[in-house]
Amino acid sequence: MSGKSKYSTFSSPLTDLIDPSNNTNLYDVLCARDQCNCLILRKGAATLAKRDPIQAIDDNDVPSANEYFWHVSDMMHFDNVGFSKTVGDTKFLSCADCDVGPIGYHIISSQPKEYLIGIDCAGYRPRA
Ligand SMILES: [Zn+2]
Repeated sequence: MSGKSKYSTFSSPLTDLIDPSNNTNLYDVLCARDQCNCLILRKGAATLAKRDPIQAIDDNDVPSANEYFWHVSDMMHFDNVGFSKTVGDTKFLSCADCDVGPIGYHIISSQPKEYLIGIDCAGYRPRA
């Protein structure tokens, strides 16, 4: 038992997942796949941000329309993250363990730097 909850199980994720005192993630953010428990972001490591949805990398992708992301300004704030394709100015992020993705993206030319994980692309586990 991983104790991980899917994004879809939260009835109001924008309030359930967020610490209202500082706008950070209230849960550990994990890979969404059932078989994978890769820790992407620890509780409190990221802040909520609204950005453009993740674009489709190829025709087989079903892109998410979600506009809310976990935002970090430095790669070092991730516990684990992988990189998949780079398309133009966009580097897509994936799970470091199982390569599922894209789960988020990084605009290479962004200043200040930002790395974004879609809030609907992750699983959530309370920190004991
Ligand atoms: Zn994974």
